[in-house]
Amino acid sequence: MSKLSAWFGGTFDPIHNGHLHCAREIASLLDLDNVTLLPNNVPPHRPQPEATAAQRVELLKCAIQDDPLFSIDRRELDRDTPSWTIDTLTLLRKEIGETAPLAFIIGQDSLLSINQWERWQEILEYCHLVVAQRPGYSSQHADNKVQSWITRHLTDAASLPLQPCGGIFLADTSLYTISATDIRRRLHLGLSCQDLLPDAVIEYIADTGLYRPC
Ligand code: ATP
Repeated sequence: MSKLSAWFGGTFDPIHNGHLHCAREIASLLDLDNVTLLPNNVPPHRPQPEATAAQRVELLKCAIQDDPLFSIDRRELDRDTPSWTIDTLTLLRKEIGETAPLAFIIGQDSLLSINQWERWQEILEYCHLVVAQRPGYSSQHADNKVQSWITRHLTDAASLPLQPCGGIFLADTSLYTISATDIRRRLHLGLSCQDLLPDAVIEYIADTGLYRPC
């Protein structure tokens, strides 16, 4: 049985303890050796991150510096064009081969907007989706067809390494009421983000003046 490899995409503007704690819990549940953080290249027609791509990578480096579980993959940032998740998954699948199990970690809010992703119904041809709980988001999709697609693919932790792709695993992670939007709002107001961000991330933000009060 091959080891499950896990990828966690996000804007990470900034990475916060909600991301990190969920990923660590999932790693423990699924016995993962590594979680690769994949910062997104945000398409120009979408609201742009406040931090530059280079700053978001620096924030990631600060966040994971003491934790060998994590690594960073810059491929989406290094590409000239914004990339869809499906394109990245296609490349990853080519790299790891057809039979290696691949997990893509998302939060419950992302699962609820999955039908807005480019070629969303093909995603499970490349990976499993491992979904972290997120407070305040419904456990059911509002669109019955999307919900029945989700239900059809539900699987359990033990089954994930047995197949390369095709499953949706709803991980019973703790609820973390932390979002990057709220962190940016707090920092703009000059409020503390102690407990919401790793110390090294707080220091980087203070040193660079990123998200400074406006
Ligand atoms: P924003 O508030 O700006 O939308 P965010 O906090 O959701 O940002 P992202 O970088 O957009 O952070 O999220 C990357 C992934 O992490 C998404 O799949 C999202 O669902 C998940 N995620 C973010 N915060 C949490 C959290 N507190 N609990 C569980 N999953 C989360």
